[in-house]
Amino acid sequence: MAVLPIQITGAPVLHSPATDVTVFDSQLRGLVDDMFETMEAAPGVGLAAPQVGVGLRLFVFNWADDDETLWRGVAINPELWLSPATVGAPDEDDESEGCLSVPGERFPLRRSELAILRAVDLDQKPFEIKAEGWLARIFQHEFDHLDGILYVDRLEHSYAKAAVKAIRKNSWGVPGKTWLPGVDNLDD
Ligand code: ZN
Repeated sequence: MAVLPIQITGAPVLHSPATDVTVFDSQLRGLVDDMFETMEAAPGVGLAAPQVGVGLRLFVFNWADDDETLWRGVAINPELWLSPATVGAPDEDDESEGCLSVPGERFPLRRSELAILRAVDLDQKPFEIKAEGWLARIFQHEFDHLDGILYVDRLEHSYAKAAVKAIRKNSWGVPGKTWLPGVDNLDD
């Protein structure tokens, strides 16, 4: 197991659609183990394969809801059904999200309240999760990664401008930038 470097916005793999997983072997199992370890070291509640430089359609997630239910797993070749998002400006306190590929930044974004995730696990066994609230948000965020979309690509105008500024200030937005959880401190 190893903590993997996380790709920062500007890396082409983050901005291109990923391809379906077709080979379920020990190499895939190793990748998923490393993704869990990387997500935990970051720390984050979700991590998609393109974020560690692998253009495959899978993501891991690890999140405990208000009832202390732990939602932890890997979604391979996922499909996602969404309820329509309500219209209106997102709330900065309740709807701000972040991304390990835009580290240290947070911006509010309106998401669908309900999502149904269908995917397979490492044994190619199908599963379905009906998610609401923050878990639904995590699924939407991670699923977007598989289509080459970052949450900053979806922001409303004023927040999008602030995001572009933050990305420029950090000299991101170009290929070849990564950070390593546990080694690089991005808090400052
Ligand atoms: Zn992300």
